[in-house]
Amino acid sequence: MFVDVLLPVPITKLFTYRVPFELNDFIGTGYRVIVQFGKKKIITGVVVNIHGNPPEVYQAKYIIDLLDDQPIMNEKQLNLYKWIAGYYMSSMGEVLNVGMPSGLKLSSESKIQLHPEFDLVQSFALFSEKEQLILNVLERDQVITYGEAAHILQIKSYLKIIKSLIAKDAILIFEEVKDKYTPKKDTYVKLTNHWLREDYLQELMTELEKKPKQLDVLLAYLQLAPVFKDKELNAKGIAKRELQAKGISVSSLKTLEKNKVFESFQLVIPRFSLPSVNADYTINLTVKQQQVKAEILTIFEQKQTVLLHGITGSGKTEIYIDLIHDVLEQGEQVLYLLPEIALTTQIVSRLQLVFGNQMGVYHSKYSDNERVEVWKGLIAGRFPLIIGVRSSIFLPFDNLGLVIVDEEHEFSYKQYDPAPRYHARDAAQVLARIHSAKVLMGTATPSIESFYLAREGRYGYVTLNERYGKAKLPKIIFADLALERKQKTIKGDFTSVLADKIAQSLSRNEQVIIFQNRRGYSPYISCDECGWIPKCNNCAVSLTFHMYYNQLRCHYCGHHERLPVTCPACGSTKLKTMGFGTEKLEEDLKLLFPEARIQRMDLDTTRRKYSYQKIINDFEQGDIDLLVGTQMVSKGLDFENVTLVGVFDVDRMLHFPDFRSFERTYQLSVQVSGRSGRSDKPGEVILQTANLKQPILHYISSQNFLEFYNHEIEERHKFKYPPFYRLIRITLKHKNKSVLNPASQMLVRRIREHFPKDLTLGPHEPMISKIRNLFLMEILLKIPRENADLKGSKNILIHAANIMKQEKDYRGVFIVFDVDPY
Ligand code: ADP
Ligand code: ZN
Ligand code: ZN
Repeated sequence: MFVDVLLPVPITKLFTYRVPFELNDFIGTGYRVIVQFGKKKIITGVVVNIHGNPPEVYQAKYIIDLLDDQPIMNEKQLNLYKWIAGYYMSSMGEVLNVGMPSGLKLSSESKIQLHPEFDLVQSFALFSEKEQLILNVLERDQVITYGEAAHILQIKSYLKIIKSLIAKDAILIFEEVKDKYTPKKDTYVKLTNHWLREDYLQELMTELEKKPKQLDVLLAYLQLAPVFKDKELNAKGIAKRELQAKGISVSSLKTLEKNKVFESFQLVIPRFSLPSVNADYTINLTVKQQQVKAEILTIFEQKQTVLLHGITGSGKTEIYIDLIHDVLEQGEQVLYLLPEIALTTQIVSRLQLVFGNQMGVYHSKYSDNERVEVWKGLIAGRFPLIIGVRSSIFLPFDNLGLVIVDEEHEFSYKQYDPAPRYHARDAAQVLARIHSAKVLMGTATPSIESFYLAREGRYGYVTLNERYGKAKLPKIIFADLALERKQKTIKGDFTSVLADKIAQSLSRNEQVIIFQNRRGYSPYISCDECGWIPKCNNCAVSLTFHMYYNQLRCHYCGHHERLPVTCPACGSTKLKTMGFGTEKLEEDLKLLFPEARIQRMDLDTTRRKYSYQKIINDFEQGDIDLLVGTQMVSKGLDFENVTLVGVFDVDRMLHFPDFRSFERTYQLSVQVSGRSGRSDKPGEVILQTANLKQPILHYISSQNFLEFYNHEIEERHKFKYPPFYRLIRITLKHKNKSVLNPASQMLVRRIREHFPKDLTLGPHEPMISKIRNLFLMEILLKIPRENADLKGSKNILIHAANIMKQEKDYRGVFIVFDVDPY
């Protein structure tokens, strides 16, 4: 028997392995196996086919072992992986690698240990010399890796030896998995069986009357587990923690254990010990919200997808909750996608109130253990509801009824690196199709693409135009930077308009959010004498100054260096900071409002797992007056007491050289405005700009999405951009320009043989033309959305790239395809 195995490596094909006879009856598709890959590597793969055909060109190796006793992946899931690989021009292996938590992937780094029940002394003589060698090392070092074992044995067939040791129950190899996936355990105690006889128990109690502390322990136990009523209760035992919570003496419990009154044992407890479902929680949708829900359900009868366009604070989340509830009732699974972890905190707590321990949370800041637990919990049926970031589309759903894509317009649904460079919102459409499930996409600022598809009738479209309760949309006001600079009323980077408004809000004890989409102190430093600007040696970008570390940092490769005291070019000491980031604004605010409690929220202040949560909590509790932050503060957050939002640098966002810059600016501005005025207190938003005449500012202030859309879609049409064209970006990388440039020329020539010239752009240097010591060149291909052979086009690209790589000089050129780049 043979199996085709999908391995988490960037290679397109599957590998065929032979199944050892003894595993024939236990293996199936979706099971993980351990196999040898290449000469040395040992990795985990997933069985995708079982058949009787040996491979033609190579001798199939035996699989080393089978890891599961039930499938860990299902067919629907594999179908999604296949689609993602095909559409996003990556390999299935890359999809598996990104999709599966590393705790489920064993590799050469995997460890070997002695079997805990193995008696080395007794049976040592029964082993071969080589086997003894390993056993000795293991006795000394406890744990070694596969790689180390290979090194110790110095023979090719080390795998055979390891396998033989496993077969003899002398060692265990899955410690790596166990190591990564350590289920959380709790210690429990129960009465030893002897005391289950009522008369004995009575006797024991009488006896313990002389030892009141021990008696307390026994009584506490009997109170929690009344075994005299029902003996069965004893088997489950009681967690030591629970007994301790009753105030018993730990040492008395120990004594009782020693005297064999109690015995202890370990139980695996789920990591998500969330409160159980709150039966009392009722959702009372407003009349308007109920109408919206009914509309959505009606459209679902005809269409797979509905775009819910509801202004910020209108209660979209309440509607999701209501719909999720219904779908779970029907026994189907729900996936609730959020664009990033920054958003999960508040929503997770809201959903927890309703769905409690039925909900699994999946995102990258969770440890691998936790992710493995969600994966397995989903298979076991413990988590019919998954809330998570983009990678949760890869989970083993088998019966999905509804996918919610919250904030569908968000760019963080797109994965940049590594491959597959997928877009979770778009992949969710395919996921839903595979399950015949529905998709609800919600946003206050639809993406141009989704809105277009809604207008075309491919998606249903439902609007919700009023905020919940008495809340009104905030008033948007512009502060004129140019004018204030001229009149010299500007303080630092703050217009007097904004500064005055902040002062007013603070005096009313209301909270303020300041938004600046750039972290660090200043985006760059410049010498006042000669204009020298420090740049990263590895990347073609200027270094960002971080005051707190007194460092210049590269946001692309992480390189950092100390701020020089003098200009290395001319020796001047006049090094000026230019522009501003969140760190500088925080400092300015401290000077302007010395009394206020100010906190910054950006990548630098939220690196640790709970730091984000803490800031949110402090803000919610009113322990922070002013929150300064990057796009992290712009969305999803719901704070009652925020009445003012200040937005810096709209101009820079608008002039970012990218066809989406208007869309982004519109979305960010409206989203960040949405943080203001969410209760009955009226809210305001101040946008600082040096050019009041830009038409897009008008769309923002009137919050007239349709007008904005009409303007934007015309441009997209005129300049051949999405949604009318699909883009494929081809990035070439090499450390020498002298190789990179002719290689890119050659590739583009090949591509142009098949595609119209005006749809093949480049090669050109991207805005950042060097990253981590590699020079970059880009080619952009536009493919009409309608009536184009997308698959065929991709094949042409891959073929052209392969031909280029056959050229000896260009072999080292690295090529990245990005389908639907953002
Ligand atoms: P959105 O997701 O559209 O921004 P939310 O669902 O966050 O809006 O709702 C905004 C605020 O109004 C939240 O504090 C929410 O709890 C409250 N809210 C909305 N609808 C209701 C409702 N039907 N009953 C009670 N509170 C509601
Ligand atoms: Zn200088
Ligand atoms: Zn760099």
